[in-house]
Amino acid sequence: MRLVFLGAPGAGKGTQAKRLEADRGWTVVATGDLLRAAIAQNTPLGQQAHAYIQRGELVPDPIVNQIVAERLATLDSFILDGYPRNLTQAEMLASMLTKPLDAVIYFELGEDALIKRLGGRRVCPQCQAVYHITANPSKAGERCERCGAMLITREDDRPETIRKRFQVFHEQTAPLIEYYQQRGLLRIVDADATPDEVYQRLLSVL
Ligand code: AMP
Repeated sequence: MRLVFLGAPGAGKGTQAKRLEADRGWTVVATGDLLRAAIAQNTPLGQQAHAYIQRGELVPDPIVNQIVAERLATLDSFILDGYPRNLTQAEMLASMLTKPLDAVIYFELGEDALIKRLGGRRVCPQCQAVYHITANPSKAGERCERCGAMLITREDDRPETIRKRFQVFHEQTAPLIEYYQQRGLLRIVDADATPDEVYQRLLSVL
């Protein structure tokens, strides 16, 4: 299965992608996670990407396209989380694929709910697990229940950066909704529910 997950920051793409991966074995390729790992390891790629992420802007297409091309070359089934994020990337993805996409899932959620989710989000810097302080707290308190690392707030989940990320989503990523609708691939999931409920909705559109 070859899927793309689309949605504004905080819509729950990563949470749902990880569940589906655990259930079905389709590999998640999350460009944000890959970029953050490169930053944590201070690789040349991470150094290039860091300032863009801090500002809430998109990392330049050539960098991201290359990361995705390298990953997809070895995968038959995948869930792309956070890629493509603009029309250039969508065209690049189409040219990379040897078999077509099966579906593009758009996780739909209003801006007020998105802001609440991002404000309470905590992430594990080690294993990339994602929590929410009230809706989905770690069973290990301030530590990750999976690997024990101290949880952190993502540096781009600050209010001023969140605003910029929404602007980028509306201007650059939202046009992909129509792009994939025209190609008959779009499936919409109402993401305003608990992770379990959203997961059931996701399974029912697949
Ligand atoms: P995410 O974890 O998907 O919210 O991504 C976090 C940040 O990584 C974004 O705000 C961008 O700065 C960068 N990023 C992730 N995916 C992409 C992409 N496909 N194209 C450009 N920048 C990206």
